[in-house]
Amino acid sequence: MTAESGVVNLSGKTSYFPGLTNTGARGAVLIDPGTDEEEYLRFAADTVLVTHGHADHFSSAAVLRRAGSRIVAPREEASMIENPEVNIRGMFSWAKPSDEMVTKLFRGEGCQVDEYVDRWHDDEIQTIPLSGHTLGHTGFLTEDGVLFTGDALYVRDLWDKHPLPYAIDVALVRVSLGLIESLQADWIVPGHGELVRGDAVVGHVRHHLARLDAISDALLDILREPSTTEDAIAGLCATLGLLESPAQYWLAVTTVKAFLADLLQQEVAEFFVADHRGYWRAL
Ligand SMILES: [Zn+2]
Repeated sequence: MTAESGVVNLSGKTSYFPGLTNTGARGAVLIDPGTDEEEYLRFAADTVLVTHGHADHFSSAAVLRRAGSRIVAPREEASMIENPEVNIRGMFSWAKPSDEMVTKLFRGEGCQVDEYVDRWHDDEIQTIPLSGHTLGHTGFLTEDGVLFTGDALYVRDLWDKHPLPYAIDVALVRVSLGLIESLQADWIVPGHGELVRGDAVVGHVRHHLARLDAISDALLDILREPSTTEDAIAGLCATLGLLESPAQYWLAVTTVKAFLADLLQQEVAEFFVADHRGYWRAL
């Protein structure tokens, strides 16, 4: 592993730019460009791959496209990349939230997608379906054994700051974590946080899975008493010690609903309506 200016060479032709969002590079391909536009422009990338439709993973995509790069993204994520307002509206059941309700991670410049990953082919970079964080979330594995996981894996150090990582489908998050472990990559570059050596990935995956189980158990505990959705959200956020802000709250709403839906699917909780309120109860 060697470092030159902001870029760190990992293996063969695969490098990455450590940052608030880690950005990958291989040959003329960039993955998840963050905010460091000048660095990426020097790469003269012909292709920019985007793992998913959260704006912090395509911060510089519009700039790079104007400079001549083609943008390749998962089909299910394209509408959010082209218009970040779609994701923001989705978060608020398609009504219009106020600015303070929206995390800055969802705000950014939209960028046209030129090609979907399911149509894209590269002999040296494999697309890996890693949904659960979002519906079409996709990782990328380079021929040099480097796996870019976007937000599918939250490495251990991130959990202190993010005790309830965003997810829309907890069962799919679990499947994706299993896939990350099974690929046996030499290096794992998560979207955020420290680089992971291949032999350490099992520990990070197991930690993520254990945290998912602990969150499910804590939620199920709250549902021993029939709870409204609002009470379930408040109870879980308090248990996990989440920061209180309108933006954090609305992020948590989606993720808590994902966990509630998972409990329903596992048939360990039920949902009913009484007095025009929705209730959840452990079975
Ligand atoms: Zn994300």
